[in-house]
Amino acid sequence: HADAAMYEAKRRGRNNLVLFAEALGESSRQRLQLQQDLRRALEQQEFVLYYQPLVELAGGRVVGAEALIRWRDPQHGLRSPAEFIPYAEESGLILPIGAWVLQAACRQAQAWAAQGLDLQVAVNLSTRQFQDPEIVAKLRSILANSGVDPCRLELEITESAAMLDPEASIRTIGALKGLGLQIAIDDFGTGYSSLNYLKRIPADVIKIDQSFVRDLATDPDDAAIVRAIIGLAQTLGRRCLAEGIETAEHFQTLQRFGCDYGQGYWMSRPLPAAEFEALVLEQPCFLATGNLAPVS
Ligand code: C2E
Ligand code: MG
Ligand code: MG
Ligand code: MG
Repeated sequence: HADAAMYEAKRRGRNNLVLFAEALGESSRQRLQLQQDLRRALEQQEFVLYYQPLVELAGGRVVGAEALIRWRDPQHGLRSPAEFIPYAEESGLILPIGAWVLQAACRQAQAWAAQGLDLQVAVNLSTRQFQDPEIVAKLRSILANSGVDPCRLELEITESAAMLDPEASIRTIGALKGLGLQIAIDDFGTGYSSLNYLKRIPADVIKIDQSFVRDLATDPDDAAIVRAIIGLAQTLGRRCLAEGIETAEHFQTLQRFGCDYGQGYWMSRPLPAAEFEALVLEQPCFLATGNLAPVS
């Protein structure tokens, strides 16, 4: 939007600043509107969690789910996090929204455990949540209120968030692990990790970003990077998960590379809780032949 205004201002050749400022004014009005809508969404409980299967590649079993937020906006329909998480982050609303996500995910994890389902639930923590000085205390109380076994909950922190202040991250992640939680480094490969810090960050899982998986079969560089990350994870004693598995070939290749887990549209899109549950209850096993077969 601002780009278009800038272009128009250049074309006219004068009053550039005025036009540009107007464009920014409008977009900041829109941002304000969105923030108001997000506040209402929180009050009216318009947010919902979808769940995407996390699959053990060797046996094809579903071992857990990543909780992914959606917004049932009465005006615009189902909205994806890319449309609103940045504004929630900018306005600080991510803290109450993130707390809601954690509560809802813990409640769901506990409900599944009570049903006898052995599932891990992974939750994304935003940068601001991760940097919140109260995060450990907040998690302690959310865990206590939900009654969930902390080892069922996995917190995903992006590599970029973790590397903003590596020393602080090592302390925070250590404290979160002290609560009994699992920790995953999300979108790995897109940030700038110092291997020295990666070694010291006590994460359990490294999630390979989907941008390296997409062209795995055709781009030898991407294949080499993926193999290197898997090797690095093995060397450091961490488990490894590949995001964005969209084809049987992706699945097979990652299996062959020795990657522990995967997630992606080829197995399943993120689903509403009841649909995810139905999928797991049928005891599905994702096989690289491209078929969904029951576990024998
Ligand atoms: P992420 O944590 O890396 O989550 C994975 C994203 O990849 C999800 O997008 C998922 O739907 C998508 N995905 C899964 N499999 C495939 C595939 O095979 N191909 C492709 N192209 N995409 C796939 P989604 O749900 O739109 O979420 C986008 C991002 O929004 C997430 O990336 C995460 O950073 C953020 N996000 C989602 N839910 C939350 C939340 O509750 N809190 C916070 N702070 N951030 C969230
Ligand atoms: Mg994630
Ligand atoms: Mg990711
Ligand atoms: Mg991502």
